[in-house]
Amino acid sequence: MGGETKRGRVNRSSSQGIWIPLKEALRRRLTEQAFATWISQMVVVRDDGRELILGLPSSFSLDWVSDHYRYVIEQELASVASGITLELRLVDHEEAPTRAYSDRTLGTPGPNRAGPRVAPPSGRGGFRAAATATHRVTAPADNRPPLPSAHTPMNERYTFQTFVTGPSNELAAAAAQSVADHPGRSYNPLFVFGRVGLGKTHLIQAIGHRVRERFPDKRVQYQTTEQFVNDVVSGIRFERMDEIRGIYRSCDVLIIDDIQFISGKEASQAEFFHTFNALYDAKKQVVVTSDKLPHELRGLEERIRSRFQWGLIVDLQPPELETRMAIVKKKAETDEIPLSDEVALFIAQSIRSNVRELEGCLIRVAAYAKLTNQEINIGLAKSVLKDLLPSKGQLTCDVIVKMVANFFDVKVADLKSAKRGRMIAYPRQVAMFLCRRHTGSSYPEIGNALGGKDHTTALNAFNRISSRLDEPDVRRHVEELERRLLN
Ligand code: ADP
Ligand code: MG
Repeated sequence: MGGETKRGRVNRSSSQGIWIPLKEALRRRLTEQAFATWISQMVVVRDDGRELILGLPSSFSLDWVSDHYRYVIEQELASVASGITLELRLVDHEEAPTRAYSDRTLGTPGPNRAGPRVAPPSGRGGFRAAATATHRVTAPADNRPPLPSAHTPMNERYTFQTFVTGPSNELAAAAAQSVADHPGRSYNPLFVFGRVGLGKTHLIQAIGHRVRERFPDKRVQYQTTEQFVNDVVSGIRFERMDEIRGIYRSCDVLIIDDIQFISGKEASQAEFFHTFNALYDAKKQVVVTSDKLPHELRGLEERIRSRFQWGLIVDLQPPELETRMAIVKKKAETDEIPLSDEVALFIAQSIRSNVRELEGCLIRVAAYAKLTNQEINIGLAKSVLKDLLPSKGQLTCDVIVKMVANFFDVKVADLKSAKRGRMIAYPRQVAMFLCRRHTGSSYPEIGNALGGKDHTTALNAFNRISSRLDEPDVRRHVEELERRLLN
């Protein structure tokens, strides 16, 4: 038997087939019925330690398995062996031996060889899959999208080693490490909350990486809420909820990012609730992130809210200056950007509340230096960041109002008028919100800038938009406008 790999997987020599252990893994993973119907009818065409070719007796079963079990097979294959390519093919049922559905390895098909006739590689519905290979999956006959997404890939760089800690985030980081070291046994669920760009995704993916590293047998599923919702929607639409459930409920660690986007989506909430219960009862770990605390999540069922409160809730606060500086330096180190402390400090002082923007500034400075063939010094950083970040004094309510009017395609005069229709009222609220956030103007000043409105109107508008930032549309509008304003 080959040596253990880093993750404890086995590199099998060519004389040892992978199909038997793989089949056992699939038997454990799938329902009895799914296994009996689909997996046990496969024949082994080749299993030589480099390539595993499995045959299916009809194009229907080939399509079905490609469509429904492709990902499970791939995943289990990756967990029992490394570097083996998987291909599914159509084999001619009539020519297959009676015991075609056995574990017998049929070897390389040749013209004079007895055994199932193997369809040409271009055969309908065949696919090849490996960790790095692209899939050749034919579109299912009924145009159903491939399902489910299995998992959203994680960013390799989001590990605990690259996560800088300081007073603003050390509790969250410690909880995350504890969860990664004892999945299902320390804090369950772990609820990580923090505003956008403060490292939620980084931290929970670090959990995923560490669990995969330390417990290669455990299945980690990282998923954005958006993808989860999509899976549920297609599951309902194409009557595949059972499969989706099977996938979500068979993992050891389920990580769902940005759970606030599940607000108001009833079917997804119900599915999440049951998935949560199934995993929790089985002592499997659940981790979620959100930009709001559970009680602030509007449109969220009470029963889910209460589940979140069973575990540990930790928050990520905007990092203090020292932590921001350490983050800038670490990022510079990783990306091999030569950076003096003076410049690191300057960048850390310029951006206070969003680590993503902090990194953005560093990248911008580095890119500018490279393009103009200059070395990075404080003068260069200042001039680059001056363009990037107008100081609060430069940005006025008038500029914001104009930009908002332009963005929503309404007239400035209408925003300043007394009109109350939604088409005007909503952009007006957004304008007031942005004025407050980015100009430092008082509410009476903002009211004035919008055609002499009362200060309470400006205040209400600010609160209203703040409380709606979890709605994808509102958030998208605000983020896009902010991007334009800050550039
Ligand atoms: P969120 O999910 O909260 O919006 P992300 O996890 O996407 O934020 O983080 C934004 C960026 O900032 C990422 O590139 C991430 O690596 C980086 N980042 C955030 N916090 C830290 C930290 N404490 N140390 C290092 N990098 C960080
Ligand atoms: Mg995120």
